[in-house]
Amino acid sequence: DPAAAADPAPTAAAAHRLQVAVDAPQHSGLSGPLTYRAGQAWPPGTLLQVPLGKRELLGLVWDDAPAQDLSPQGQVLPDAELREVGEVLDALPPLSASWRRLVEFAAQYYQRAIGELALSVLPPQLKEVTAKQLQAKLKKLAKLPPPAAPEAPPPMPVLSEAQQAALAQLDGLLQAPPDAAAPTPVLLYGVTGSGKTEVYLRAAEQALAQGRQVLVLVPEINLTPQLEARFAERFAGRRIVSLHSGLTPAQRLQNWLAAHLGQAELILGTRLAVFASLPRLGLIAVDEEHDPSYKQQDGARYSARDLAVYRARLEKVPVILGSATPSLESWHHANSGRYRRLVMPQRIGGGAMPRVRIFDMNTLARTKGVTTALTAPLLEALRQRLARGEQSLVFLNRRGYAPVLHCGECNWKSECPHCSAWRVFHKGDRSLRCHHCGFAERVPFACPTCGNLDIAPLGRGTERLEEQLAEALPGARVARIDADSTKHKGQLEEQLGAVHAGEVDILVGTQMITKGHDFRRITLVAAVNPDGALFSSDFRAPERLFALLMQAAGRAGRDAEVAARSEMWVQTWHPQHALYLALQRHDYEFFAASQLAERESAALPPFSHLALMRAEARTAEGAQAFLDAAAALAQALPDAQQALIYPPVPMSVARVANVERFQMLIECGQRSTLQRLLWHWLPLLQALKREHRGLLRWAIDVDPLAI
Ligand code: ADP
Ligand code: ZN
Ligand code: ZN
Repeated sequence: DPAAAADPAPTAAAAHRLQVAVDAPQHSGLSGPLTYRAGQAWPPGTLLQVPLGKRELLGLVWDDAPAQDLSPQGQVLPDAELREVGEVLDALPPLSASWRRLVEFAAQYYQRAIGELALSVLPPQLKEVTAKQLQAKLKKLAKLPPPAAPEAPPPMPVLSEAQQAALAQLDGLLQAPPDAAAPTPVLLYGVTGSGKTEVYLRAAEQALAQGRQVLVLVPEINLTPQLEARFAERFAGRRIVSLHSGLTPAQRLQNWLAAHLGQAELILGTRLAVFASLPRLGLIAVDEEHDPSYKQQDGARYSARDLAVYRARLEKVPVILGSATPSLESWHHANSGRYRRLVMPQRIGGGAMPRVRIFDMNTLARTKGVTTALTAPLLEALRQRLARGEQSLVFLNRRGYAPVLHCGECNWKSECPHCSAWRVFHKGDRSLRCHHCGFAERVPFACPTCGNLDIAPLGRGTERLEEQLAEALPGARVARIDADSTKHKGQLEEQLGAVHAGEVDILVGTQMITKGHDFRRITLVAAVNPDGALFSSDFRAPERLFALLMQAAGRAGRDAEVAARSEMWVQTWHPQHALYLALQRHDYEFFAASQLAERESAALPPFSHLALMRAEARTAEGAQAFLDAAAALAQALPDAQQALIYPPVPMSVARVANVERFQMLIECGQRSTLQRLLWHWLPLLQALKREHRGLLRWAIDVDPLAI
């Protein structure tokens, strides 16, 4: 309307007050939606540009809330003093009420501002497009022909009994009348290869047949193409899109729009996809629900798994959490009846799980020069595979050549000057590299302190293991997959391709190789040094290690033909440890029960609820003083009586890039108490931060995964 544009002064009749969520950080004084003036009452969920200070940024019309349009003096501003909204992206249908409720819940639960969270989970390119560009994109999308219908129905396996039983239960949930209560979340507990993915496919088919959209979450980007291919094969003729951070910004926007407009029927994605706008959501599946990647580690530290459960309840749709080693939280919920447990105890086709051999390192003669990572019996086991033309996978969760370089003369070690950590020796590019701050230098020719020429690597990473294997087994084709060997786009696919094509005899790698990949000819999986996690200060370390080793074991013997001679090999100095004994029996249930008993007696999650407050400062004293002062403030709050606030401690790597990091654990018996405490407490910290000049940042992590 050119007349209105020429005269921005509002007339009383034309002015509408809009609550608009903008990207302003929590506790900044601007954390709630802000009030703007508009010529039209745009409905909640509409995207539009708004002025904020000197900037113009994307905002989202939010639901009317108690008046937040307070001037600094605490008065409601008259219309004339409100700022006018800018361009409205009205070609886009508004984001739905249930999407807004999800965002509101997540913001509140993880203690973030609504606008900050809402805008951070929208595709980044949405913030840059003009209304006209968006319109062009939408037109293009509307013209996309639907995928061609398949000529023949896709091949479908005959379901196993366990799959049938699981699906019969899911059917009940999928067919529930719309006015029924929200369906109970389903924990699909099935060993690797038991056919969980087939269950997702069948359940998805049902939901699609009802004209609904299906959301499938996977922990890693690397696993999306594989799963996408499987869904694409089954659902030729349906539009499938993926949503993850590896897409180009344009592709991500395109896919997001396809979901938002309801064109995409199947949405596959990583944790951020839990916030996809899905007008006809009918089913959510969370694959490998125990995987720590579902927890965002910065900004709004949300758990996509937990939000998936919340979203399913909100929208009254079934949610399937699938895993061979469920998180202890989910297992506990299944025990208490909050989740419905469906069990698939056997591999499809009767393939056995590999035999687990716990190799006692103490039995080795401690002769000088014996390399403990590659024991003679392990080498022998590898040789057998080579002779039979089978593949092996050797797993070591440490990349680089050696974790530290050392001078035997003066005891110099390759410390990072900026972090409380060693710099890792990478032989490939002859560098010393800090895995925390990235600081890298060429390996010194001689000891920088005493000039000794004979500086030696201590310990072993995947690079060295690869070298040692190649030396010990001449003629073997050894390959390595870790973050270093897959830095460039396409490298991982290429290397995985080589393994599948049988061009690799022994694959060395970090936990990257233990996840998901369906290697067919592997008959030996070896964990050469997994003990570290047994004695970690993080109470979740054993749970993670157990899941990782079970998953690694699941890589072996996937073909029934080779299953009988498949082995998992664990080298340990603690062969009697309960974790390994449970692993040996493939007994997740025993492991889970014993861990839960320990957690209960120590009042740890899921028997209590935690938040972790972190502070970063130039000095350790500065970081600690802030947390001490914060704890003192909390004591005055009513809920503090029901909370345990532990003394601040340095983080396990205390200094990173010359920043000192401390953390403080807050524990409550009740989730609601913790929520109320944080709600009253955190706003006080903004003022506190101003008093602590040396403080760089503080952050809160609700339900932290790594402690
Ligand atoms: P999981 O997700 O539990 O690891 P998958 O669903 O990937 O298991 O199944 C493992 C393998 O068995 C896959 O190759 C899959 O195609 C196949 N499969 C699954 N269900 C059946 C079935 N009912 N009959 C035959 N093969 C099946
Ligand atoms: Zn020296
Ligand atoms: Zn560093």
